[in-house]
Amino acid sequence: MLALVDANNMYCACERVFDPRLRNRPLVVLSANDGAVVARSEEAKALGVQMAQPWFQVRHLEKTKGLLAVSANFELYTDMSSRMMAVEARFAPRQEIYSIDESFLDFEGVRGDLVAIGQDLRETVLREVGLATCVGLGPTKTLAKLANHVAKSAERKPGSYPAHLARVCNVGEMSRGDLELIFSATEVGEVWGIGKRTTAKLNDAGVRTVLDFVRADAAAIRKSLSVVVEKTLLELRGTACLSIDDSPAPNKQILVSRSFGKSITSADEIVEAVSEFASRAAEKLRNQGSVAGAISVFFSTSPFRKNDRQHEANATFPLIRPSADSTLLVGTAMEGVRRLYRSGFNYAKAGVMLVDLQEADAGQQGELDLFSSVSGTAEMPRSTGRDRSKLMDAMDTLNQRFGRDSVRIGSATLVSGGSETRSWAAKRERRTPRYTTRWDEMPMVLA
Ligand SMILES: [Mg+2]
Repeated sequence: MLALVDANNMYCACERVFDPRLRNRPLVVLSANDGAVVARSEEAKALGVQMAQPWFQVRHLEKTKGLLAVSANFELYTDMSSRMMAVEARFAPRQEIYSIDESFLDFEGVRGDLVAIGQDLRETVLREVGLATCVGLGPTKTLAKLANHVAKSAERKPGSYPAHLARVCNVGEMSRGDLELIFSATEVGEVWGIGKRTTAKLNDAGVRTVLDFVRADAAAIRKSLSVVVEKTLLELRGTACLSIDDSPAPNKQILVSRSFGKSITSADEIVEAVSEFASRAAEKLRNQGSVAGAISVFFSTSPFRKNDRQHEANATFPLIRPSADSTLLVGTAMEGVRRLYRSGFNYAKAGVMLVDLQEADAGQQGELDLFSSVSGTAEMPRSTGRDRSKLMDAMDTLNQRFGRDSVRIGSATLVSGGSETRSWAAKRERRTPRYTTRWDEMPMVLA
């Protein structure tokens, strides 16, 4: 059995942990020079604020409806994510971190009432980290995702599903009849990996609900749509067939991480793994035409191995300007590992997450010509002087033609020291303190 644990409104929830004034009010998080909405609280959704909506279109709601807006604070979100993931990892022998706020847990070999374990997990994350989550359980990833959707909807929209499925839902333990009721109450477009175009095609063929979909002919689905859609169908019928690499990508950030087959202890091995993850993430980033504003690097021991000493390393490095340059991203990730590494631990997993994603052109007008030669992170300035987008294109073309990793970043030399001015870095006028990662920004409690 698998669980998908997902934090509710992650970015807004992180802000609310530290600032109670933001609770129970419509709240949005802005990114891309404070230009667009990247996260909304339930109250903001109720006001009709859309995802990715330009801020100027909803700004009037500040005065009329008490809408609050903060600048994205990715250093805070990624650190809170790392704390949350570490708590979740205690509950199952294997964890696959899927996005900044979602992880799959594999309960193979675990005995006991999984719904009770899920409830315990929720309460523990809430108590220790301050974030509310929903837990979906099922025999395949797609069913666990669907169960999570049910758990979340039953809580947010009473009446959408039976109330007892709110917050923790296990579709693996349902009778056939109950499961079919859930399937018939869910539109096929809600299924993980079924995008808008596939939904439209399925609707045209008369497939509207998940129940219609699971009753469809798998071979016909493969023929008329794709083998990936067929895999999704089989997953909904309970046959696991999605590997990590087929999993549909989360859209808000790009995450590449793996649990290691064996424990890793040396910095070099982590550097090697993390470089590979950063390359892959950078390639995905360019494929979707985005740039990243920051890169987060993490590696940790396994909390499930209780005899091992535990260490979780995690840090986010904001880039001076958003970039999709592999050499920069890999170099930053490698330097990050070197800074965070501590010897004497059995590391069990590592990963890289690109956050603060923006369209490749957004925020680059005007300054581009002046500053296109400058790249690097605020804390790890680099003195490279060329626009490498042509090099990146060439790399991607070679890797597509000759196979993954035909061309790789061999090494990256970082120029350390020296402080770089950030006067022209991204606009974040409403950024909240980095409460959990900066000594001088810790929350103050007045006695
Ligand atoms: Mg979430």
